[in-house]
Amino acid sequence: MEETLLRSLPKVDVLLAGAALSEACGRYPYARVKACVQAQLAALRKEILSGERTAPPSTADIEQAVFAQLASSGACGLRRVINATGVILHTNLGRAPLGEEIAGHIYDVARGYCDLESDPETGKRGSRCDAVEALLCKLTGAEAAMVVNNNAGAALLMLHTLANGKRVAISRGELVEIGGGFRVPDILEQSGATLVEVGTTNRTRLLDYETAIREKQATVLLKVHTSNFVMEGFTEETPLSDLVRLGHAQGCKVLYDAGAAFLFPPEYIGIHCGVTAGRCVIDGADAICFSADKLLGLTQAGILIGRRDCIDRMRNDPLSRALRIDKLSLAALEAGLRTYQEPANAIEKIPSLAMANRTEENCRMQAERLAALIQAVAPSFSIRAVPFRDEVGGGALPGVTLPGAAVRAECANIAADTMAACLRKQPVPIVSVIRQNGLLLSARALFPADEQAITDAFAALQNEVANR
Ligand SMILES: *Cc1c(COP(=O)(O)O)cnc(C)c1O
Repeated sequence: MEETLLRSLPKVDVLLAGAALSEACGRYPYARVKACVQAQLAALRKEILSGERTAPPSTADIEQAVFAQLASSGACGLRRVINATGVILHTNLGRAPLGEEIAGHIYDVARGYCDLESDPETGKRGSRCDAVEALLCKLTGAEAAMVVNNNAGAALLMLHTLANGKRVAISRGELVEIGGGFRVPDILEQSGATLVEVGTTNRTRLLDYETAIREKQATVLLKVHTSNFVMEGFTEETPLSDLVRLGHAQGCKVLYDAGAAFLFPPEYIGIHCGVTAGRCVIDGADAICFSADKLLGLTQAGILIGRRDCIDRMRNDPLSRALRIDKLSLAALEAGLRTYQEPANAIEKIPSLAMANRTEENCRMQAERLAALIQAVAPSFSIRAVPFRDEVGGGALPGVTLPGAAVRAECANIAADTMAACLRKQPVPIVSVIRQNGLLLSARALFPADEQAITDAFAALQNEVANR
């Protein structure tokens, strides 16, 4: 039986020579069409051997499957997904979503030419970053600003320009790895600086820095925000303002990698911790760097602000050319920073700020509405709204949770991880959370249109469960 079925499968060459696939070879590379045919035949052989298939497939069926595979293998690997994890700045999901208006500016600039390095009024050559840098000075009170590709690049440039050949004092509690193997001691070494470790892992006092300057000839004081973990208990760190007072009295430069920063007091969105860029400028650091796609909620970029002489030196460092920001990120950054001139406008236009600003009540109402929509199409499931602790994410405010709400889905016939896998395979993949054998979909980071897609996915799940 299996033997007969296997022998009934058409040969690769015969299929390729047929009218339909000859035509396909005119549109797609021959090798790709051939690989798709081989893959389809292999899949059919497997179905026959496992007993799943008991009737021979028609040539037309095979051709159709090859066409479908050819079309889908042209689709992009980078796709939109639905974030139901409750982590607003999810590092694995691209951190900050941009929102219609800001993303629209990218679209406008990307479709044609733009005045990236020419001033349309004078016709002379201009700088790609002038407008963004002026905005950053206005929003932070800094003397000067510049932008690069990301904050890892900003930190590297800051140290390469300002700490090369110098002895740099840094607290042992701040010798951190940021992620992706980006380790502060390694970056210092690559920048040509000599590391002078100060204090202990849990406590570093001003006196420790004083000793490093006096006894170890440190001439740069570096502070790094410990973004991705919290230290609790018997701890002490030296505030930036104290470091600046000491450093400047002793002729040292003071540099700060803040990691993530706000441009307005975080209390505006109900958050009671975190650094504001303006505060760092008032505290007097010579140069400060932070990411544009963490708490700022904009596109991937690294922002440097500080004293004019420091920023000018970084601008003239050849490394800055290698780290330069691309025009599409620049377009989003400028459109986003403009909204910050009026904090209420930023909270409205920047999705991650709006998400952080959502009240527990507002999340709960959405979770209840979504639960009812899902329950209506998935009667085999038990669906209800439950309280949930959301996070800002992005290694920005570790330990801070936001009270929110989620939809909890359970079903006796399907395990939570099978459910989660099925949701990830939807046309727009849905990323959920599993807790105590239940699947959870947090409301906080959902867009209004996501509700329909999630409901459709549960209708598909219901079908699968009903057919078992
Ligand atoms: C996140 C972070 C970085 C890296 O920023 P990217 O924008 O991801 O390149 C560097 N330093 C600190 C302290 C950070 O928190």
